[in-house]
Amino acid sequence: MPERASLSGIGVCPGVAAGPLLRLAGAPVLPPPVPVGDAGAETVRAYGALAEVVADLERRAARAAEATVAEVLRAEATMADDEELRDAVREHVEAGADAPHAIAAAFGTFRELFAAAGGHLAERVADLDDLRDRSVAVLLGLSMPGLPPPGHPYVLAARDLAPTVTADLDPEQVLALVTEVGGPTGHTAILARALGLPAVVACPGVLEVAEHTLVLVDGATGRVEIGVDEETVAAARLGSASSVGSAGDGAITGPGGTSDGVPVRLLANVGSVRDVPAADRAHAEGIGLFRTELLFLGRTSEPSRGEQVAAYRDVFRAMAGRRVVIRTLDAGADKPLPFLHQDEEPNPALGIRGLRVARSRPGVLTTQLAAIADAAAACGAEVWVMAPMVSTLTEATEFAAAVYEAGLPKAGVMIEVPAAALRAAELLRAVDFLSIGTNDLSQYAFAADRSRGDLADLLDPWQPALLRLIEICGDAGRETGKPVGVCGEAAADPRLAPVLAGLGVSSLSMSPRALPGVRASLARYSYAECRRLAELAVVAPDAASARGLIG
Ligand code: PEP
Ligand code: MG
Repeated sequence: MPERASLSGIGVCPGVAAGPLLRLAGAPVLPPPVPVGDAGAETVRAYGALAEVVADLERRAARAAEATVAEVLRAEATMADDEELRDAVREHVEAGADAPHAIAAAFGTFRELFAAAGGHLAERVADLDDLRDRSVAVLLGLSMPGLPPPGHPYVLAARDLAPTVTADLDPEQVLALVTEVGGPTGHTAILARALGLPAVVACPGVLEVAEHTLVLVDGATGRVEIGVDEETVAAARLGSASSVGSAGDGAITGPGGTSDGVPVRLLANVGSVRDVPAADRAHAEGIGLFRTELLFLGRTSEPSRGEQVAAYRDVFRAMAGRRVVIRTLDAGADKPLPFLHQDEEPNPALGIRGLRVARSRPGVLTTQLAAIADAAAACGAEVWVMAPMVSTLTEATEFAAAVYEAGLPKAGVMIEVPAAALRAAELLRAVDFLSIGTNDLSQYAFAADRSRGDLADLLDPWQPALLRLIEICGDAGRETGKPVGVCGEAAADPRLAPVLAGLGVSSLSMSPRALPGVRASLARYSYAECRRLAELAVVAPDAASARGLIG
């Protein structure tokens, strides 16, 4: 790669940031074995690596904002700080192995034992692999797999970001995200918007950029300038500092609505209580999507009912006096959860995901609903519950029955599958509200994988076919008088907001950063104008023409 070059991808979260680029480190490759002269010294070297891994995990556990993350990290540290493991390493060194190979072999033995034992122990195999990779990386002088901890802000480059990595991501350290793959509604994009980080996805070549090269990322245009100078970095830093306060300054606040006062509730999407302050700063009227997956990520066993109650209650209490729409577990496909032990599927996005998990594991849903009901009691928030990936009236009816059975007053379903959108009116007879997940609804309506950047044109929320599906839901909402919201990424597009309102959508839920822009855009149009724009957008020949309707 030439010293000064530029790459381009899809900008998924606007903003400009610059700084040294560091990669999400992958697993190290074991080099060929080398002969060992002094077995004692080599054993000390191997023990040193294990100790460094333990210390690093403990440091990260102490820093973790989430109790769950801290617990997982501490459990890993305990596994690496094990007498039997050290004995096995020493034996391998004494038999002639160098430190990296001795460590790999020792972990390999435990791995086999754990896998053969099955059950809970077999679930820890992934942890052993992670510990082996970390220790070997230390011995080889490489970064440990995962997020780099350089102690200064940096631009993170990765092939893609797994949801588990996101639990660790510190927005104070990471200036921007650039991934080689990914699409506009994939998880990197959602995470970036939630954290307000400039982000570019589907950016080929980014993994070939030498680490520590200064880069400038433009999350609006999708351009990544490689080899910029210190002045550019300083200017970008000043620019972002001055734009931080300005998002809300002088912008309108208060409940969302059209210029003539037709209300459109503006709500926030959150993943844990950590996101609530940002929702407050954006004057969100409530939470329209509380994604509960975070608590379950990376877990090899199901979080207990008590643990779930605590996590949900934190959010409900922080939102006392407002509405929180909590979504039951959306596992599977792009959100694999180890504790479910799901079989490999040829088409995971079309398989057992979302509410479908309850077919084989009904207990996971009933425990979660019971935990939500416990947490909702006397918390002061108005708690509504919805299910992801609902396709039929039968599923909606059964889910609503389970919600009421748990003692919760309001049950809704997400509209993410075209079959459900087409039957919105029937579904609304069985449930209290609908929430349209446009990320998945686009994916399934256009048969286009949401994580593929090269299909971004099909995943464009302005696609008239998607708008038509939304219109069917909006009409059903108007007929029944029940709320129909949008909580997918389409809700964060300020120009689309009046169109969605015109289609009959009564609330928009988005990452808090997007809220001021959406509020201001909606307030520029009367309800009659919104309806007219919606009518035109639905019959537009293509997404670009629909988008062109809004000046
Ligand atoms: C969606 O599909 O639009 C949605 C909000 O759910 P998620 O992005 O979590 O799949
Ligand atoms: Mg979805």
